[in-house]
Amino acid sequence: MAVPQNKITRSRRNMRRAHDALVAGNPDECSNCGELKRPHHVCGACGHYDNREVVAQQADVDLDDEDAA
Ligand SMILES: [Zn+2]
Repeated sequence: MAVPQNKITRSRRNMRRAHDALVAGNPDECSNCGELKRPHHVCGACGHYDNREVVAQQADVDLDDEDAA
């Protein structure tokens, strides 16, 4: 097994990790519903992209509907 030849000091390790922080995305407002969405992606809330619906949204399904046969 490969073994590091030299010890990485706390200082060097922490310098490496100084760039590891996650950065927030660049959310964009959906032009249809106003929900925040990823740029250049279909809106997850309403399925719209470029002001038209590209992902059909399922109508609300009432699981407790007693009249359903
Ligand atoms: Zn939307």
